[in-house]
Amino acid sequence: MSNETYRFNVGKFECIAISDGTMTYAPPNFPPPASFLFSNAPKTAIQKILPKYGIKPEQWNDWTSQYTCLVIKTEKNKVLIDTGAGSLMPTTGRLIKNLNHVGIMPEDIDTVIITHGHPDHLGGNSDDYGNINFPKARWVMWKDEWEFWTSNRAENILDEHSKDLLVSIARKNLSIIQDRVDLIDTESEIVPGIKAIATPGHTPGHMAVEVSSNRENLFCLSDVVLHPIHMEMPEWYAAVDIATDQLISTRKTLLRKAAGEKVKVIAFHFPFPGLGYVEAKGKTWQWRQIV
Ligand SMILES: [Zn+2]
Repeated sequence: MSNETYRFNVGKFECIAISDGTMTYAPPNFPPPASFLFSNAPKTAIQKILPKYGIKPEQWNDWTSQYTCLVIKTEKNKVLIDTGAGSLMPTTGRLIKNLNHVGIMPEDIDTVIITHGHPDHLGGNSDDYGNINFPKARWVMWKDEWEFWTSNRAENILDEHSKDLLVSIARKNLSIIQDRVDLIDTESEIVPGIKAIATPGHTPGHMAVEVSSNRENLFCLSDVVLHPIHMEMPEWYAAVDIATDQLISTRKTLLRKAAGEKVKVIAFHFPFPGLGYVEAKGKTWQWRQIV
């Protein structure tokens, strides 16, 4: 097993965290990490908290994020959560190669869940030639998320600087699945043991996923949090979070539940494989990575 794949179990289900690669966020394309990730936080408070997370504030010039997708093998289904960024950057688009490493071919995947319409989560729906990457799969996405990206709502809300790229990647990768996507608007089971959780805020129709087998649970948080500090400071949001009030409330609800029920969670942007627990700490939470 390479350091780009990580196997674990949830009850009887075998799960594999699969890296799609990494992306470094830095000026001039993005704000410096502190203002990118914590855009509403007071500078002094950021400077105080960073050393606790092993970051030297004065040297924090770029943030390299993992992009971690998840495969779940249930009794009947092979489910993939998010398809990574495709060829967005030279450092991304490793999903299919890493799936092959663990013996999974694209045609083995029968269900693809897209948590939201950002390029790092759906950019691997298609290859560079416009061919669909998982030819036998049905896709599942939250209905409002689909409508946000395919109507003019995204163009009207997103800032000038990023909207053309975001909207064009979303539309390319959504149009290719339009005949095979199921749009859901209730917290229902997608396949037995795998359930959608409405988590709007980061984007309007963002979806988290609950995996349950033999009384063990896993929450796939996707982008409810982008950095472990968002667990300790759930009211600090990032420049890319769209509906910030909604995000804060979504975040608190989900983190409270994850900590209270002591469930495993996996977070798309955390250090690979992003697998761990949320622990209550005072009035908020802290991250405890398992590996
Ligand atoms: Zn993301």
